[in-house]
Amino acid sequence: MSASLEASAEAEQALDYDAIVIGAGMSGMFQLLRLREMGMKARVFEAGTGVGGTWYWNRYPGARFDSESYSYGFSFSKELLEEWNWSEHFAPQPETLRYLNMVADKFDLRRDIQFRARVAAAHWDEAARHWAVTLEDGSRHVSRYLITAIGVLSAPTLPRFEGMDSFRGLAFHTARWPHEPIDFAGKRVAVIGTGATGVQTIQEVAKTAGHLTIFQRTPNWCAPLHNRKITDEEQAKIRADYPAMFQRCQETFSCFLHTPDPRGTFEVTKEEREAFYEELYASPGLCIWVGNFKDTLTDRAANKEISDFVARKIRQRVKDPRVAEMLIPTNHGFGTRRVPLETRYYEVYNQPNVLLVDSKATPIQAITPTGLRTTEAEYEFDIIIYATGFDALTGAFDRIDIRGEGGLPLKQKWAQGAQTMLGMLVEDFPNMFMLLGPHTALGNIPRSIEYNVEWVAALLRHMQASGLTRAEASAQAVAAWTEHVKQIGAGLLTNEVDSWMTGVNRNVEGKETRIIARYSGSAPDYRAWCDRVAAEGYRDLALS
Ligand code: NAP
Repeated sequence: MSASLEASAEAEQALDYDAIVIGAGMSGMFQLLRLREMGMKARVFEAGTGVGGTWYWNRYPGARFDSESYSYGFSFSKELLEEWNWSEHFAPQPETLRYLNMVADKFDLRRDIQFRARVAAAHWDEAARHWAVTLEDGSRHVSRYLITAIGVLSAPTLPRFEGMDSFRGLAFHTARWPHEPIDFAGKRVAVIGTGATGVQTIQEVAKTAGHLTIFQRTPNWCAPLHNRKITDEEQAKIRADYPAMFQRCQETFSCFLHTPDPRGTFEVTKEEREAFYEELYASPGLCIWVGNFKDTLTDRAANKEISDFVARKIRQRVKDPRVAEMLIPTNHGFGTRRVPLETRYYEVYNQPNVLLVDSKATPIQAITPTGLRTTEAEYEFDIIIYATGFDALTGAFDRIDIRGEGGLPLKQKWAQGAQTMLGMLVEDFPNMFMLLGPHTALGNIPRSIEYNVEWVAALLRHMQASGLTRAEASAQAVAAWTEHVKQIGAGLLTNEVDSWMTGVNRNVEGKETRIIARYSGSAPDYRAWCDRVAAEGYRDLALS
């Protein structure tokens, strides 16, 4: 046996697994299934005590889907679709978690998932062609492939107020909510943050809290969810329609059931426009955001029309005109940040036991043992809820010491912003595949997950069949995709506003400036690009 063959046989023996997957959310679960099907020895490391990812961690009151339940579930198994009934058009978090646990049981996934296992580091060893993965408990595991399934919004961030640890009451970040129910009855509760999470939390907590104070730094444009129960008759229809519905999701801009209206805002009369806005405002889900006139997010005058319409709705729903004005965004137009969906959210501000505080005018200065202090006043609370968001897109990557060829840290590689091929591969990081990595298509997340998982699985099958053990994106392919992502974001009003979608989070050092953080093209275009790479025999990758 030659020396190099001996070395590679030794390296092969040293492998604990063919593939290590980080995270047991929807992407990690489905990827595990596909890896198993191709005969790979796979291991999933999951920091939590159960499966579900986003739906495991985000147990805050009021957490629920805001894309239609049936369009959100896995589509890969007909049997699964036959077995599961969603109870509401927009299912609450406990139901989604039950669903994902059922999926884990059905496919016997848990035997390959190690829970309470947070990955601290993953280092590429070029000579051995493997990834060495170290858990926080110090254990080391060696694998040919590393698949990150760590989510887009999974690294929660707390504000950096003075005295954060001094508070003597209960305090939670919404994404680290306890597993036991919290009773708000008679309690003085604070909610900091009014993004999609804060809005869902506020409208739920307001139902029972003794007194609720909301600290709002930037108001968002919220729209009604219009949730309701699914009747038996509807369930039968939904089931019969599954193939057509999932096909529709493949064809829409971002895999939702809704897609932009082909008309421009000013191609119709003022009356028609108003009637269309009314129709959208009365429609369920994200329709008003992703099913609006095609120029809503690109034409300033068009954007102002819908913003004015929603502002009128807020003024109608909130009784105190001063509070209504506080709730109307002035620094960004409708839809240029994520539109939180709500159920009687604005009506919460008509309750006598609810106070809205403008945290821009009177910033929070410190958390105190009994509550918090702003520049203007001192407040006392029993419970403080931080609905303060996430270090989005790259944050979960930054929290792991990932090193590629020559020990290069991924954080350093991405110091000027993420550079990826299709959001799935990174040059200098061979055999690392990212599910929902930065610059991938997002939208209706499970639809994107299923596509990414299948694409990675097809690449691995191709490598298996050809006796290949190393895959790396070429510099040209990474540059081409990164440039495309930048170009396609040009002219979008969304990119002129601070939000997680533009990479801004002032609670994280170095994330104060807007960047093109997301792929903002269509999902069909994204898939066409990925399909072309596969159809051309993966020549955009160096395979060996
Ligand atoms: P977010 O949109 O980033 O909102 C965070 C909120 O906290 C903002 O109001 C922010 O104010 C405020 N905040 C942060 N730091 C603060 C500080 N130091 N002082 C005062 N206020 C502070 O986060 P999120 O609401 O968790 O939502 C993130 C994303 O998760 C959503 O956009 C959505 O994509 C997803 N999500 C989905 C669902 C669903 O599908 N059902 C539900 C919830 C969330 P500023 O705006 O001024 O920064």
